[in-house]
Amino acid sequence: MATTSQTHLKNEQEQIASRRMNRRAFLADSVKTAASAYVGVAGASLMARGADPFELKLLRREPDTGRPVVFQQSIQPAKTAIVVIDMWDCHWCKTYTARVANLVPRMNQTLEAARKLGITIVFAPSDVVGFYQDYPQRKAMQAIPPKAEPATRDFPLPPDTLGQDGCECGPSQPCKTKPFGSWRRQHPDLRIADGDLIGDGNNARELLNFCQERGVDTLIYVGVASNMCVRQRAFGMINMKRHGYRTIFISDLVEAITANGLDPAKKTPDWNFTPAKGSALSRAYNERYLAASCESRHLIAAAGLSAADRRTSIVFVIVDQEYKSDETLPAFAKTFLTPDYRCTFLLPRGGKGPGCIDIPGLEALYDADLLVMSMRRCALPVAQMDFLERYIRCGKPIVNTRINIVPFQLDPKSRQDGYVIWPAFDQEVLGCHYQGYNAESRKTGSDVWVLPEASQHPIVQGLENAKWHSPIWLYRQNPLAPSVTVLMRGQWSPDQEPGVQPVAWTHTYEGGRVFYTALGHWDDFRNEKFNRLLLNGIKWVMG
Ligand SMILES: [Zn+2]
Repeated sequence: MATTSQTHLKNEQEQIASRRMNRRAFLADSVKTAASAYVGVAGASLMARGADPFELKLLRREPDTGRPVVFQQSIQPAKTAIVVIDMWDCHWCKTYTARVANLVPRMNQTLEAARKLGITIVFAPSDVVGFYQDYPQRKAMQAIPPKAEPATRDFPLPPDTLGQDGCECGPSQPCKTKPFGSWRRQHPDLRIADGDLIGDGNNARELLNFCQERGVDTLIYVGVASNMCVRQRAFGMINMKRHGYRTIFISDLVEAITANGLDPAKKTPDWNFTPAKGSALSRAYNERYLAASCESRHLIAAAGLSAADRRTSIVFVIVDQEYKSDETLPAFAKTFLTPDYRCTFLLPRGGKGPGCIDIPGLEALYDADLLVMSMRRCALPVAQMDFLERYIRCGKPIVNTRINIVPFQLDPKSRQDGYVIWPAFDQEVLGCHYQGYNAESRKTGSDVWVLPEASQHPIVQGLENAKWHSPIWLYRQNPLAPSVTVLMRGQWSPDQEPGVQPVAWTHTYEGGRVFYTALGHWDDFRNEKFNRLLLNGIKWVMG
């Protein structure tokens, strides 16, 4: 039985979720109306003729400041093509091969949505286009009559310090000794459909002829690498922007190739330089100088192909050896979040770590509205970490409970090639410096209290001036970044180190809301004040 307070919280939750669902249903219906016009029309190229425009949410950055600007762009499917760059079956780096393969299922889903919207797909497998010489899609591209080359206009492009042609296995770059040119074709699981085209990514005239023939003025890019071929091939964003085309890329369907545990600009060890950090830096550069970005989920939604379950999606990632959050968080969700939210719980295969582990299902983050993390000292394979870091590094909301002060802080000696650690997650994402705890405090627990100066904050709504005893031992977490807003503090002994410490706070990372609480012991979940704090935190980070 829920307590009165729990019931009250749940009612509030239902009202908010219901309002949110109504808004989503309205938006979904408006894109369905646009998409339904093409149902029953056979053939992608036929659909392109009659396809109606739709609105797409885009993000660009001001060239002078790098400041992000979100805007809506009307996309006319008949005048738009998706260009798929170099999705090869194989790379010189085995980790990068896995990373590229990782993009394929979502890319297939997105290309299917684009076809349904009436957008033409152009595959551009540079170097290996010969593999496709007998494909009708290749012959159709070659059959387009030549046109006059359009005028070009150059634009300033500052140097990029990310480096190129790296290995992402680890800082010793074991793959760097392997030969180049082992690729034969596109990834075999990447679906090529009737009505698609296959071009030679090294011959710009093919794409320019196609664009003039079809009246295409907008090119949307997916593929690899976002700091190399997606930019620099003859079919790439730089050359096509020079020729006057509108360039866009799908930010969750491209990857850079940079380094792992190594600063590629300085060529010095840096465990906080992850492959996904390379992709994030490349993304920001591209948004600033070359193209606006969009997300695959918005194209999929515009085509009416989103999951039937339209509830707000919360993904919990739990790797917890100490506090039973694999039991407490699902129980919390059952009481306070379902049925209004779609909750997905992702746990490691096999043991619970710490160390190199494997978490299936992280692709759920493509469509997540909130990530709740309770992880301790993990290294994940690069391809899996991409899902997590892509979500985190593009400023989406995150709730972190107790142990998630050190989710990826693992001794590099315990890391295997092809795995990623991120030791400074606490400093970068949470805005604190984790420095252990006093073992004596494990015996006493701690008094924790809401700060009077925080009483107006929505996360402590209903908890104004609250003080209670928690079974947690206090972490040393100072100094905090100036951008942190502390909501609660705690102390285990008035006389002994570490003294008063922050216990709950908010931060922003890449513009997104972050909530952390050092509470989260299994006995904390028996306390309705803690449950209220966590529920308020979940609601607040989602805005
Ligand atoms: Zn490698």
